[in-house]
Amino acid sequence: MIEAIRHPIHLEHREFQLDASIGFARYPSDVAAPAELFNAASIALHDAKQRDAGISPYTQTMRRTLERQQWMTERLHRAIIERRLELYFQPQVDLETYALTGAEVLCRWHDPEWGWVSPGEFIPLAERRGLIRLLGDWVLEASARQWSDWQAAGTPLPGRLSINMAAQQFADPRLTEHVARLTRGVPPQALALELTESDFMRDPDQAVMITQAMRQAGYALLIDDFGTGYSSLSYLRRFEADALKIDISFVRDMLDNPHDRAIVQTIIAMANALGMKTLAEGVEQQAQAELLAQLGCHQAQGYWFGRPLPAAEFAATWLSRQG
Ligand code: C2E
Ligand code: CA
Ligand code: CA
Repeated sequence: MIEAIRHPIHLEHREFQLDASIGFARYPSDVAAPAELFNAASIALHDAKQRDAGISPYTQTMRRTLERQQWMTERLHRAIIERRLELYFQPQVDLETYALTGAEVLCRWHDPEWGWVSPGEFIPLAERRGLIRLLGDWVLEASARQWSDWQAAGTPLPGRLSINMAAQQFADPRLTEHVARLTRGVPPQALALELTESDFMRDPDQAVMITQAMRQAGYALLIDDFGTGYSSLSYLRRFEADALKIDISFVRDMLDNPHDRAIVQTIIAMANALGMKTLAEGVEQQAQAELLAQLGCHQAQGYWFGRPLPAAEFAATWLSRQG
């Protein structure tokens, strides 16, 4: 069937190519009752589409994975609405002086039954299941509230609070107004938005437009996980980003692996040439911090400086009373 469907169709001097995905299930080996066949085949079809596999036979594992995702989506939705997600804050420091230059906001979810669920699991799920805007809006609001609370308590955060954005949030052409509304009371100069390199490259022309508008409004933009996303140099020049965040994978092995060190050096040189700063992620050892400083990297974050902490602990450890 797939071969027949793939056969090119000619229409008015143009050629069209169709593709098909097939999922199937069998009775009685896969399901107990014929009435369940259609449902099982749909699950297999969903799998075939997701993996771009062409043909996918139904398995029990598919059903269990789907059910877990379904439960998790429902519970995550409830947790967002009931305001049960939490924010943690990780310090970002200047590599010359070790002074605090800001903090990255990292979302945490503690489910009463499952315990801590990794953002590596629930963020992609929220992206796939249409919850990321809801989650992202809450993160923006709650981050702004926290910034203002620190301000009011006389322990203001120096520098900028850096907030992660998902591609779906960034695709909003009125993003600047949207962010401004959700973070009312916080000057744009106190905020930075992080978007991964691969998300920037999804629709680079639109990203160029949005980054320019955001920059004009005073927000800083950081390109996250830099070095993993194959961005083109010509776009990199046009994104008005303030800094590149050097991905943890290069920092991790840079002391022992000359290739990774060369990549870090190249990223720093490229950023300098384009008038951007660099911030290294995942610094876990003093030797890494020293080498990064020596290579001219401006800022860093990582366990060696400080782990992500709940707001109160972050303030007690990192913020000092003013006035
Ligand atoms: P990310 O933006 O690259 O965040 C950095 C991750 O590295 C965080 O993982 C942080 O806890 C971890 N990390 C920091 N320092 C070190 C270190 O020295 N060593 C190691 N091994 N890891 C370190 P986390 O908190 O699990 O977050 C994972 C990802 O989830 C984030 O990666 C980000 O992409 C996403 N994420 C988290 N919060 C949000 C959010 O509010 N919105 C969106 N859209 N994504 C979020
Ligand atoms: Ca980030
Ligand atoms: Ca990152």
